Amino acid sequence: MNARTSPPTSVTGTVTRACMGFSACRICGLSRNEGLEFTDGVFLWPQGLAHYVSEHSVRLPPDIVAHARQRLQEIESAIVDESWWCEATSM
Ligand SMILES: [Zn+2]
Repeated sequence: MNARTSPPTSVTGTVTRACMGFSACRICGLSRNEGLEFTDGVFLWPQGLAHYVSEHSVRLPPDIVAHARQRLQEIESAIVDESWWCEATSM
């Protein structure tokens, strides 16, 4: 298994809510299944989502998978302007 095929250990986005304490996994009862909720501006998911996917083989709805794939493709095909970075880091 390499880094691209390993099960995710976390799935992050913009934090929308932080709960006091950890939530428990609804399948196995893992008591430290994190306590944040994230968003990408379209969907909202719990911090423990990776646990459900990697440990319990939970599959996400097709529209969410399609959305994630489209966003990944947009990000990977974006043209990166490194001129600011080069100018800011040149001495
Ligand atoms: Zn679990």
